[in-house]
Amino acid sequence: MALIVQKYGGTSVANPERIKNVAQRVASWKRRGHQLVVVVSAMSGETNRLIGLAKEIQASPDPRELDVMVSTGEQVTIGLLAMALKEIGLKARSYTGNQVRILTDDAYTKARILSIDDQAMRADLDDDTIVIVAGFQGVDAKGNITTLGRGGSDTTGVALAAALKADECQIYTDVDGVYTTDPRIVPEARRLNAITFEEMLEMASLGSKVLQIRSVEFAGKYKVKLRVLSSLEELGKEGPGTLITFEDDKNMEQPIISGIAFNRDEAKLTVLGVPDRPGIAYQILGEIAEANIDVDMIIQNIGHDGSTDFSFTVNRGEYPKALAILENAKAKIGARDITGDNKICKVSAVGMGMRSHPGIASKMFRALAEEGINIKMISTSEIKISVVVDEKYLELAVRALHKVFDLDQAAA
Ligand code: ASP
Ligand code: MG
Repeated sequence: MALIVQKYGGTSVANPERIKNVAQRVASWKRRGHQLVVVVSAMSGETNRLIGLAKEIQASPDPRELDVMVSTGEQVTIGLLAMALKEIGLKARSYTGNQVRILTDDAYTKARILSIDDQAMRADLDDDTIVIVAGFQGVDAKGNITTLGRGGSDTTGVALAAALKADECQIYTDVDGVYTTDPRIVPEARRLNAITFEEMLEMASLGSKVLQIRSVEFAGKYKVKLRVLSSLEELGKEGPGTLITFEDDKNMEQPIISGIAFNRDEAKLTVLGVPDRPGIAYQILGEIAEANIDVDMIIQNIGHDGSTDFSFTVNRGEYPKALAILENAKAKIGARDITGDNKICKVSAVGMGMRSHPGIASKMFRALAEEGINIKMISTSEIKISVVVDEKYLELAVRALHKVFDLDQAAA
């Protein structure tokens, strides 16, 4: 007997029919003798609908009140799933975040989990009852409802698995695992049997939307065994999904590159002809940081005649704001000009194997050069290489890299 936490996303509970299917899937695990805690998201589209309603009242909704109403999506699905399980003769009980007592800080709309009370859940599990928990929500020390950020049900699932020391946390979604890249761009993309937490974290940060970034961080930190599975496969014919695990796991396949991630959501800003002296990077980025804008890649060119150019990337949504800030600060910084480009994207190769295999970067750059794709910026970490290219080359670049690293070949 194992204790399993399962999380079902919005598409898995999109309508009563699908909720009944989830109940059947949960029942099949229960029949195999396991204890189950099931986390659900709101029905697909529901969270967006609720946020839309709020915005019809207030252009930027009051965060406390937004959390009060946006958390209702999950309250609906836990009740429905508990009913569906009872309907097929199983014992089930639903809990909101508050009822479990998933204690968070008070950062509305992006709260962090501080602790989880496992008593009520344990009592139910010991009583052969399936525990259903609302994802995405918690409660702060003063009893205010909080939410964990978009996609936060993944984090609820992982946090419950950590708190209950579950044997596995299964994330059920509308794809049957983590792929080498997005199959909509590269039809030959393959499902990975396993991927390390470090790689998954890079993939998630670089644009793969399968798991919320924070949930992967959490799983890595608390050593929760995570598996991504499809809830849309026929019962009894399910694939193994993708296991997210640790490097020293003996069963890990060991490719050099595990996946190609990409992000269209990028924009680049360049400050031209600034004085090449200490403090200039701080002066430019300080203004940006003060406006709470995240900066990703940064490049400072070699100075000539006492002046230099400085480029960095931001989220595309923040581009107009960042541009305005730089225009304003232009005189103060002593810049000759400010330029920008919001038609760029970032393409990255991710893999633990690059630590022990030299030449990955040059292989990557050659593949891009052969397609005539100009690289605008480069950044690397121990296990990833990212390039910024024109957005119009995104698909070409992803396909070229997927191919050059043999990702379409079955793992040995
Ligand atoms: N319902 C929330 C959202 O759409 C949380 C989740 O689905 O994970 O972001
Ligand atoms: Mg999700």
